[in-house]
Amino acid sequence: MLPDTTITAVEPFILHVPVTGNMIQDSTHTLTHWGVVGTRVRTAGGITGYGFSGTHAHLASDRLITSCISDSYAPLLIGQDACDVQRLWSALYNCAPIQWVGRSGITHLAIAAVDTALWDIKAKASEQPLWKLLGGATCSRLEAYNTDGGWLSLDSQTVADNCRRLVESEGYRGVKIKIGTDDPRADLKRIEAVRTAIGEHATLAVDCNGRWNLTTVLSVAPRLPDFDVLWVEEPLFYDDLPGHVRLAQAMLTPIALGEQLYTLDSFRDFIAAGAVHWVQPDMTRLAGITEWLRVADLALAYHLPVVPHVGDMGQVHVHLCYAHPAATRLEYIPWIKDCFEEPIVVESGYYVLPQLPGAGTTFRPDAVERYGMEL
Ligand code: MG
Repeated sequence: MLPDTTITAVEPFILHVPVTGNMIQDSTHTLTHWGVVGTRVRTAGGITGYGFSGTHAHLASDRLITSCISDSYAPLLIGQDACDVQRLWSALYNCAPIQWVGRSGITHLAIAAVDTALWDIKAKASEQPLWKLLGGATCSRLEAYNTDGGWLSLDSQTVADNCRRLVESEGYRGVKIKIGTDDPRADLKRIEAVRTAIGEHATLAVDCNGRWNLTTVLSVAPRLPDFDVLWVEEPLFYDDLPGHVRLAQAMLTPIALGEQLYTLDSFRDFIAAGAVHWVQPDMTRLAGITEWLRVADLALAYHLPVVPHVGDMGQVHVHLCYAHPAATRLEYIPWIKDCFEEPIVVESGYYVLPQLPGAGTTFRPDAVERYGMEL
């Protein structure tokens, strides 16, 4: 007999977890902690689902997300069957008074947390890991690429040494480094140092975090093939669709983006315009797993590879990538993995397939004690 998955309680939480080395920078952000902002959803039969979004651990904005969950979404969820995920997603997404104040941003991060908790319940109720519930694994192994050695707060030599270690000693077949400073020539030297350090076989991606303008990117673009750059990530401001179209037509190196696109409609516009080559949906920025799957299907229809941004630090995306045929590799950043009952594991450069029932989001009992913040 199936367990009773009627929702009885929705309990938001905020965790602030320290990043590697206690501080990292890219061209637009400085972080000391990663915010894990989400909710427990309890059900009558005893199954508890967990879902969360990822933030820059700014308590005031994190509280906007948790209040959206508790004040606006919880009343729509209590008494409903958690396994009716698509119907509940539509009820939250189309809730008119809330949609009026935000069709993206805070409301989306809040829906992402709830939606993930519902998928977690559905997978637990069927006693399967999420990837299996979604249809099973589409690949025998999922490559991980490592971003955690290439922060802009580190000097070029340290970044090159980190990347060499990741490739030579830890088995990664790819790394990503941050660029996008006010001195593009220094950025090119950084790219060159890393390419020299990792050799010709490992892949190297670079990430501007939306900092440069079209003129700057065009000035460095002719040099990028010298270093066999796999992609340039967020070369321009996130919403600059015409700029990305012009860049895609002028630059040989492929463009990756998506971590700042909040909706299926935004992805449709960028993909249909030919403004993106590597599609980077993030289920913590989109409205959860439900909308992520729609974006991945869209990318598949255009035969574009999906390489998610990991606002969840890979906990859920590892399930989605194993299950979806458009996903080709997955970013690895280890900051929050010790919070979970089944943390992500990379062995010899590949993600280990999760085995526990659920979406990979169940917290260890001590995670809230160690990292919990007041709501
Ligand atoms: Mg990025």
